[in-house]
Amino acid sequence: MARFKEADERLLNKKVCMKCDARNAPRATRCRKCGYEGLRQKAKESRKA
Ligand SMILES: [Zn+2]
Repeated sequence: MARFKEADERLLNKKVCMKCDARNAPRATRCRKCGYEGLRQKAKESRKA
């Protein structure tokens, strides 16, 4: 999936709600859509050796 590289890089700086999958600001502590606090960071590049 290297087709939308720029978009992917932007996604890395977002947080995604584990409940409704809404994308939130990187510094958000809870989902802006549903208020759920289970946000995970989009961190694809955590596999560096
Ligand atoms: Zn949510």
